[in-house]
Amino acid sequence: MVTKVKNKFYITTPIYYVNDQPHIGHAYTTIVADVLARYYRQKIGKENVYFLTGTDEHGAKVAESAALKNISPQKFTDQISQQFKDAWQNLAITNDDFIRTTESRHQKIVVNILNKLKAVKTPAGNEVLYETDYEGLYCVGCEKFILESELVDGKCPDHNKEPEQVKEKNWFFKLADYLSIIQQKIESDELTIYPKARKNEVLGLIKQGIPDFSISRSKKSVPWGIDLLWDKNQKAYVWVDALSNYITALDYPKGKLYQKFWPADIQLMAVDILKFHTLYWPAILLALDIPLPKILAIHGFFTINGQKMSKSLGNVVHPDELVKEYGAEVTKYLILSQFSFGSESDIKVEEFPNKYNADLVNGLGNLVNRITKMVEEYLKGKIKIDDLENISLKIGTEEMIEQLNFKEALFKIWARIQDCDTAIDQDKPWILAKSKNIKDQEKLKSVLGKYIKDLYIISINLKPFMSETAAKILKIITASKIKKPATPLFPRK
Ligand SMILES: [Zn+2]
Repeated sequence: MVTKVKNKFYITTPIYYVNDQPHIGHAYTTIVADVLARYYRQKIGKENVYFLTGTDEHGAKVAESAALKNISPQKFTDQISQQFKDAWQNLAITNDDFIRTTESRHQKIVVNILNKLKAVKTPAGNEVLYETDYEGLYCVGCEKFILESELVDGKCPDHNKEPEQVKEKNWFFKLADYLSIIQQKIESDELTIYPKARKNEVLGLIKQGIPDFSISRSKKSVPWGIDLLWDKNQKAYVWVDALSNYITALDYPKGKLYQKFWPADIQLMAVDILKFHTLYWPAILLALDIPLPKILAIHGFFTINGQKMSKSLGNVVHPDELVKEYGAEVTKYLILSQFSFGSESDIKVEEFPNKYNADLVNGLGNLVNRITKMVEEYLKGKIKIDDLENISLKIGTEEMIEQLNFKEALFKIWARIQDCDTAIDQDKPWILAKSKNIKDQEKLKSVLGKYIKDLYIISINLKPFMSETAAKILKIITASKIKKPATPLFPRK
């Protein structure tokens, strides 16, 4: 799978549910989106990239949590939504927009979308939305109906709570009439699901048969949400409300952003919302006669030092804690260099200090010091590099980033760092510097020039991952007089 980008790039994270505080799982999805957005801004121009994230703020669980805190749902969502905004700012995330489902710009368009869905028919000639009784076990914590087979000792395993028996009239979406079209688009990769194992998982789900889904709930069961105009007793249930954010943020259907950026080039998510994004979302878009996103990329759940992350184990990692310890850029490096997108995602926090020292302090930081110190001492900081603009910057990171292989992209950059260190050890510029021989002097200039070029190549390739660090190095090596940095790029811890 390669992201298929020509002249514009639209990337989204899911909107995160405000019943949870930002943790490493949210951070991972958002960091990946940030790297891709930065990469494509460099490649096709800032104005041609749009990066959206946000928060999902409706639902019974939000109303319940707000009531527990004795505040209004709006105040509650304001607070948590701000925590997400702050977390992304602390991580130096460069999202172009942050959508909240409680904003009026979103709600207005959702009402239009619901009305449109109410008015249209499926390809088989059925109403897209129809009313029927729904009866089932409902977990308020999960905010969804839960199957008997999913219960452990009669309780929801995630919430350790007995579900409620609920029966009510709801509006349903006729998913059945779209499944064969969606299946064909997934099989042909017109709608690419990445990685392949997830594609097969979705095709398996379709073969099993996926029931129609409800798009509304009674006001009693979901008091905090968007009203259905044609049925005053009902509120929009999560799917149409939340999934639509990807187009409401672009001001669907007439907005300039929508015209320019839809369909999404890549939509990122964790595996828990796979079914909704690979089946419900395409069905909604097909019903609205809107093109489907190009790629849905799905990563797994996170374990922390090999253990499942959970509040009860007390091992939930919050991005702010890592940023406090390492800063935004190093945090991103430590996370992305640990595992590949879509594979087993174990965050080995205990390995971070060693990795920091090895790769950043002794690796990149030391290389910059080593080279600039020699240029400063042996050549009084003066070195002439005339064709910096024309050297090949390609070391294979572009292909890796476009295939979401961030770990491998970083590995290629660090291989270059290591190669440069090895070259210095072999060239022994300190011996050349002592020689009065003209040939040795020429060789000294030439090898030091080569190292500076290496630093240049390393910095440019590092930009999507660590843009500030890259900018610092570029500033040092392109100065009219090169000097060893007064303070190391990465202080030893
Ligand atoms: Zn539950």
